[in-house]
Amino acid sequence: MAVPIGPVTTISKNKLKTMLDSSLEFENDWRDEFKNSFRSTHKLHQFLGFEIPKTDYPLFIPVRLALKIKELGQQSSLWKQFVPSTLENEDKGLVDPIGDLVHSKPGQLIHRYQNRALFMPTNICPVLCRYCFRKNELFNEKELFEANLVETQKYLLEHSEINEIIFSGGDPFILSDEKLASYIDFFASIKSIKHLRFHTRIPVILPSRINQPLLEVLKKSSGHFETISIAIHSNHVDEWDQEIETAIMKLNRLGLQLLSQTVLLKDVNNTAQDIVNLMNKLVKNKIRPYYLHHPDSVKGGMHFMVPLEEGRKIYSELRDQLPGWAIPQYIIDRPDGRGKLPAFNPESFNFSGQFI
Ligand code: SF4
Repeated sequence: MAVPIGPVTTISKNKLKTMLDSSLEFENDWRDEFKNSFRSTHKLHQFLGFEIPKTDYPLFIPVRLALKIKELGQQSSLWKQFVPSTLENEDKGLVDPIGDLVHSKPGQLIHRYQNRALFMPTNICPVLCRYCFRKNELFNEKELFEANLVETQKYLLEHSEINEIIFSGGDPFILSDEKLASYIDFFASIKSIKHLRFHTRIPVILPSRINQPLLEVLKKSSGHFETISIAIHSNHVDEWDQEIETAIMKLNRLGLQLLSQTVLLKDVNNTAQDIVNLMNKLVKNKIRPYYLHHPDSVKGGMHFMVPLEEGRKIYSELRDQLPGWAIPQYIIDRPDGRGKLPAFNPESFNFSGQFI
């Protein structure tokens, strides 16, 4: 547990707004905002007023998010998601909990399903989430993220059944506009690729990145593919503010498909009301609820695990407050790499399978 060295200084809503506004001096260059993020336990300790435990995993929190964490305090969904905990040092869980390495192919690809492949152009993220299912891979499995487009092209030409490329990582929107545009052009040159999808946490963590040059890159790309989707990762309504909603509105204006992905996490969002509130926020922002992931059994993140029975019970309660089109699919990834399964069992909340 983090050891308190003094009371957390609570910040009034107005003060927070002023602080957030002043953090917007970075608005014209999101890279400055990125570079100014907290990355040492010492500095975060000084800022939050609580000792931050050392763990085996690095720390990275943008200032605008740290301000919200400070305002909402130690018991908040934001603190639990992003501030290191001694529980990460527990030696249980899997290093590769969804079997990425089993399906890793040359050229930064993971080919798990017949018609689509993940493309991993970076291991850098706008924040380091303590529950991350790739937290043991991001800094150790360099091969997953090593650029070799010759190999990528060769593999895709040999596997013309792949018609969708899913940019993952890391966060693909952390790439420079030029780099991102060059990757998109590369996939546009391969005739079998009809669909692009980006999995990103950037819009709710570093909304200044959703700037005009990036919007231009995405707009220009849309003519080359049948669909372009952006799957936005958000776990709790407390992550949101007006700047984020403005960034989402700009993405919506491009006419792309905006989807959501959420991870069910203990002490973060494991009540039906947390999920309902988040889905309502997503729908209001014209983001289609897509995936609710059951937590993965990741080493360093097992303290976020929710029993499957509990997840099923929460999921069964959503329908009372949400129409079917606002309910995400509740899914679980199998650790052997065979992909996703529906996690909801309407006949029984009891889990009968064996995943590990
Ligand atoms: S943004 Fe995604 S990949 Fe990056 S640390 Fe968070 S969960 Fe992991």
